[in-house]
Amino acid sequence: MTNRFAVVLTFVFSLGLATTSGCATGGSVGDRANRAAADVLLPPRQEEDLGSNFSEQIASEVSFHPSESVQSYVNELGALAVESARSRGDVPSGINFEFRVIDNDETINAFAGPGGQIYVYTGLLKRAGSAAEVLSVLCHEVAHVTERHIAERLVAIYGLEALKRAALGDNPGMLGNLVTSAAAQGFMLKYSRSHETEADETGLTYMLGTGYDPRGFIQFFELIQQQSGPRPPQFLSSHPFPEDRIANIRKRLEGRGNLSDTSGAERHKQILQSL
Ligand SMILES: [Zn+2]
Repeated sequence: MTNRFAVVLTFVFSLGLATTSGCATGGSVGDRANRAAADVLLPPRQEEDLGSNFSEQIASEVSFHPSESVQSYVNELGALAVESARSRGDVPSGINFEFRVIDNDETINAFAGPGGQIYVYTGLLKRAGSAAEVLSVLCHEVAHVTERHIAERLVAIYGLEALKRAALGDNPGMLGNLVTSAAAQGFMLKYSRSHETEADETGLTYMLGTGYDPRGFIQFFELIQQQSGPRPPQFLSSHPFPEDRIANIRKRLEGRGNLSDTSGAERHKQILQSL
C-alpha cells in the first residue's frame, strides 16, 4: 500500500509541475467546471482539514515574525476583510480564517492556503504605505478562499481522477499529503489570470465594506509596478500586469461617490517601528 501510494503521489506531483506552468491563461469555462468539481470533491470542511496539514508544513519551513503588535495589526485588518466577506454571505461554514506574518523582508507577497490560512510577508508590510494597502492585499487573498480558487487549483493540478482516488480511497491521509506536495512546490498554487481578476474584483467589494479607502488597491499595485525592474518580483510571476489591474479597479470605482478616505497611514507607520 505504501509503495503504491508513493507511486501515485510522485505521478500527481510531476503532473502538477507540468500543469502549473501551462495554466497561466486558463479559460473561464474550465474554471467553472473546475469549481463545480471542487465543490463536490473538496467541500469546505475537507478543505479546512487540508488547511491544518498545509499550515504545519508552512510552519516547518518559514519563520514567523515575533512581534505581537505586528501580528495583532494583521489579525485586526484580516478580521475586517473576513467580516466584510461574511456580511455578503460569502464565507462557507467550515472555513476559519487565520492570518500569519512570515519574517522575510525580501519577499513582497502574500498567499492563501487551503481552508482560510493567509500568510503575509514582512517584505510586503515594510513596503506598503498604509493600512488600506495591506488590507487590499488581505481582501484579495480572502477572495481567493471564498471563491474556492484553492480547491479549484487542486482539482486542476492533480486531476479529478487522482483526487477522486484520494477522496474515496482507503488512505485518509493521502489528500493531506497532496497538499503538502503543493506546499513544497513553492508554497502557493499558481492561479489563472481569470482567478486573479476575480480575486481583485471580489476583494474590492470586500474592501468597500471595511471603511478603509478602496484606492488602497491602486496604491498597492502602483507600488508593485515601481518595484518591478528588469526582473519582476515574485508577486508578479503568477499575477496579471499591475497596470491592467489598476485600470480594472479604477473602472469599478468610477461613478461611486463618497469613497472612504481612511488610509490608516499613521497606524501603519507606527507598526513599521516594530518590524
Ligand atoms: Zn492572487
